[in-house]
Amino acid sequence: MKTAPCFVCKKPSVIHLAYAAQHLCSGCFIKHIEKRFMQSVREFRMINAREHIAIGLSGGKDSVVLLHLLSMLRKKLPFKISAIAIDEGIKGYRNLTLITAKKECKKLKIPLKILSFKKDLNYSLDAIMKKTNKAACSWCGVFRRYLLNLGARQVNADKIAIGHNLDDISQTVLMNIMRNEPLRLVRFLDPLTLNEHLIPRIRPLIRIPEKEIALYAMLKGLEIKFMECPYAHFSFRQHIKEQLNDTEEKYPGTKLRILKSFIEMEKLMRKSLKDKEFVFIPCKKCGEPSSTISCMKCKMLEELSK
Ligand code: SF4
Ligand code: ZN
Ligand code: ZN
Repeated sequence: MKTAPCFVCKKPSVIHLAYAAQHLCSGCFIKHIEKRFMQSVREFRMINAREHIAIGLSGGKDSVVLLHLLSMLRKKLPFKISAIAIDEGIKGYRNLTLITAKKECKKLKIPLKILSFKKDLNYSLDAIMKKTNKAACSWCGVFRRYLLNLGARQVNADKIAIGHNLDDISQTVLMNIMRNEPLRLVRFLDPLTLNEHLIPRIRPLIRIPEKEIALYAMLKGLEIKFMECPYAHFSFRQHIKEQLNDTEEKYPGTKLRILKSFIEMEKLMRKSLKDKEFVFIPCKKCGEPSSTISCMKCKMLEELSK
């Protein structure tokens, strides 16, 4: 079957971007992805010369593509990259993606630091799931955030780069609205932070849909195992993901429109809130920044020790 010609150069296309009504060939698609990455880095002033960027590397397609894009950018802009991987202890999944993480870091000569739920917090996620009925992602999200921040502090990073793509961001926006937690979205896009213990986060893949990241990885010959966490299936996020994919299929451009609305909403929310809303106090147990006397990580560890 003959494929439609590329919108830019008329070669046979490899993808149809329904939201932009464009077919693109492999070469033009690769340029398109790299342009979108650069556009976000510039627009939100994510990286400055000589900064130290720690990338949260899981070994999945998003973080590995981000590792390659950052390493490419480093040829034009001098900055340092380290990788931090968190081993949650999910047998048959994380141990396999970590093999990719190690291989890619070696290939690009990027130092990798691995922190683990079992070693650093005493419980692997698999062990936690044998003890409790609470959703795996609730434990995982809190503990992973803590360890990523800790690892980035240990390597003296200025910022943490996260491989969140357009699908992740649009899901997060809808989830926070549905949970009536809109304030969690404030400062989501701002690489500045109000607490020196919290390393600012940047998300350079914010404009790139998940499917396009997968295709980019394939076209660039990156050897990535396309696997899904065995606990993902039971999460609220998975439900939203399915709904959103269905809506995108019927109404192309939905995810990008959610992102644009969110960027506008975030600016307005930030303007109308005073800085004191973001004040953190040190957790009485571990000293990590917290909005209450005891931080969420310590509360959860206490619950586990009962
Ligand atoms: Fe953790 Fe949930 Fe992601 Fe699995 S899907 S890695 S449990 S946050
Ligand atoms: Zn082309
Ligand atoms: Zn604490």
